[in-house]
Amino acid sequence: MSTIDYSSLYIGGGWSAPSSGETITVRSPADGATVGSVPLAVETDIDAAVAAARSAFDDPTGWAAWDRVDRSKVLERFAEELESRSPETARRVSLQNGMPIWLAEQFEGGFPPVLLRYYAGLTTAEPAEEMRPGMLGGSAIVTREPVGVVAAIVPWNVPQAISFLKIAPALAAGCTVVLKPAEETVLDAFLVAEAAHAAGLPAGVLNIVPGGRDLGAYLVAHPGVDKVSFTGSTGAGRAIAETCGRLLRPVTLELGGKSAAVVLDDADLASSIDNFFGVTFLNNGQICWLNTRVLAPRSRYGEIVDTITDLARSLPIGDPLDPKTKIGPLVSEKQRDRVEGYIAKGRAEGARLTTGGGRIAGLEQGWFVEPTVFADVTNSATIAREEIFGPVLTVIPYEDEAEAIEIANDSDYGLGGSVWSADVERATAVARRIRSGTIGINHYSNDPHAPFGGVKASGLGRELGPEGLDAFRTYKTVYLPPASF
Ligand code: NAD
Repeated sequence: MSTIDYSSLYIGGGWSAPSSGETITVRSPADGATVGSVPLAVETDIDAAVAAARSAFDDPTGWAAWDRVDRSKVLERFAEELESRSPETARRVSLQNGMPIWLAEQFEGGFPPVLLRYYAGLTTAEPAEEMRPGMLGGSAIVTREPVGVVAAIVPWNVPQAISFLKIAPALAAGCTVVLKPAEETVLDAFLVAEAAHAAGLPAGVLNIVPGGRDLGAYLVAHPGVDKVSFTGSTGAGRAIAETCGRLLRPVTLELGGKSAAVVLDDADLASSIDNFFGVTFLNNGQICWLNTRVLAPRSRYGEIVDTITDLARSLPIGDPLDPKTKIGPLVSEKQRDRVEGYIAKGRAEGARLTTGGGRIAGLEQGWFVEPTVFADVTNSATIAREEIFGPVLTVIPYEDEAEAIEIANDSDYGLGGSVWSADVERATAVARRIRSGTIGINHYSNDPHAPFGGVKASGLGRELGPEGLDAFRTYKTVYLPPASF
């Protein structure tokens, strides 16, 4: 297979020579083959990207000052250009991070154009400003203004969808963006640059600088940046929050999770097993909101453990580009080692392994780990408390609904979750008592219309919905004098 190689960076509306001769080489997590390479951006490239975004934003006739209808037309074209590249986007993501191709087509090829259209529509549908009668005689004009130059920093696990959770509302609001993709997934980001260029996005409105964590830290602290929007690990989020706190720079943080699937005693898990797969093993266990703690009633514990064990054993494992594959490789050797470390810890702490725990015979050249289920886990065990980010579930028993809610809430995190029951009303009542930014009933799916984000160590702020647009705006009030003035 030919490799995908780039030698320029997309900064200031054009392809420019990188400042250093260093490159990022991407290798397939499925077999180690070289997939492609891009230039590694360095600090001077970040300086150039921020300067381009800054002048595009500060230009009094620039993107921020454009009529929102004109902006939305460009975003519609951007959506079309992305759509025409969707199959290649999905293929590149799958090649780089091992995401099964059917999922990459939905999440990575499909979702970004939806987000661009949603936010383009939202900004044009709402009033440009609001006139509020004052309580003290005057009145006030309240306007929403774009927050400025946005540093968008994204992880490798769902790189396209996550990038557009930031890019789409930021551009619709009138902001300009510097995107830093993770080193593992850079090739799909170059398709974004091509699509933006073909759509006629003005110079400097979107700039893309691939690099690692040091480059990300440099971008976060850059004096030309007005807002940081970060998705990634809780550890990196804390470091970024510290910098932003010192600089008084607004920041949105979408971080890790250890969400609970609460299976109530009337649930028919077997008949919703596809949905249950979607909240547990999706993307090889590498999604922040996955429900890796399954809470099962003692009255049906053995049967539920068996159902989940059968699910884990039934999943086709292999080449992520094969449409039948449900479980691909983990993204990297480092991630495989980390997941195996947690499996060893689970065993050492006395949890009962019902299936998995090993590598896959015949697939030793990739970073594959078997879907793994631990039963008889207590909520204080390491594998119940820490985010593993791999296909490893813990099944924790509970006595009654009150204890299930207590265990679900006994976590440092609060991002996703689900409740499974034959009675949607009952399940919704339980969901309301769980401290989490989002939660699903008998399924889980992020809807563009509704806010997504976490509480506790899962983050600050919200993406998606009108709330996700608001994250890229600031409000200005103009006080008008009372009529008698
Ligand atoms: P990571 O934190 O190591 O890296 C994420 C991105 O941040 C990368 O681009 C990286 O280069 C950059 N980065 C790392 N440290 C940085 C720093 N100090 N300053 C600036 N940039 C920095 O995370 P990862 O391993 O790539 O992704 C997995 C993590 O992301 C998991 O914890 C997962 O739960 C989380 N995640 C959260 C969400 C969400 O919406 N809440 C979505 C996806 C992934």
